[in-house]
Amino acid sequence: MQLSKRLEKKAREMGAAYFGIADLAFAQRNSITEHEQAVITEFPRAISVGVPLSSSIVDGITAQSDIYAIKNYYFHVYEVTNPRINEITLCLTRIVEDEGYKAVPIPSSHTIDTDKLYGFFSHKMAASLAGLGWIGKSCLLITPDRGPRVRWGTILTDAPLILNEPFSGKSCGGCKLCVEACPARAFTGNPFKPTEAREIRMDAEKCFKYLNDKRKNAVGVPACGLCVNICPFGQKKKQAG
Ligand code: SF4
Ligand code: SF4
Repeated sequence: MQLSKRLEKKAREMGAAYFGIADLAFAQRNSITEHEQAVITEFPRAISVGVPLSSSIVDGITAQSDIYAIKNYYFHVYEVTNPRINEITLCLTRIVEDEGYKAVPIPSSHTIDTDKLYGFFSHKMAASLAGLGWIGKSCLLITPDRGPRVRWGTILTDAPLILNEPFSGKSCGGCKLCVEACPARAFTGNPFKPTEAREIRMDAEKCFKYLNDKRKNAVGVPACGLCVNICPFGQKKKQAG
């Protein structure tokens, strides 16, 4: 079986509902960090995998005062879903390396640049360039069927895989629900443009501070999730199901 197909089959067997391969030549300089730009020269492709969150758990986080719902969301994301994604990306990395190519699995949800709050490589950019969704006004990756209710993993590689086209065809349009709902007022409301830096759309520090305050108060965990909950694309899936 061709390597791309083998990787997709393994990812889906392990729980990924989304799989795509991005040509990182489409990444535009202004929307990525200098570090990401340097990485792309060594790893021209990215494998993107997405594992859906439980819709019922995301539905439960409408009230920030509901400590049970917020904590359950936090544990579901960080202790259940993210470890699963890391298992998937580690397994796929082994398959790619066994074929003689280079592969770097990017840890799920780990900040590397603690000043600017960036990870090693943007999972969302990889997923959008792999054709799996668009980057919304919330700076989250929005899938057409589950909205932002998906967690992402990425493997950077030089393997000659079958590439997907970058996502096109849908966008946030006039919606601003996440912008209005954010208790930290972290979003500007500007739509994603590949030529613009994240700071044009979001003040990540505001979200970080808000979550950090929640860790210190009665909630006890750095979680909010309103921008995940409120997106109508995720809500549509709930109604359709
Ligand atoms: S997690 Fe909450 S505070 Fe952070 S950006 Fe989303 S809605 Fe705003
Ligand atoms: S809530 Fe609306 S504006 Fe925000 S990401 Fe979803 S579709 Fe886009």
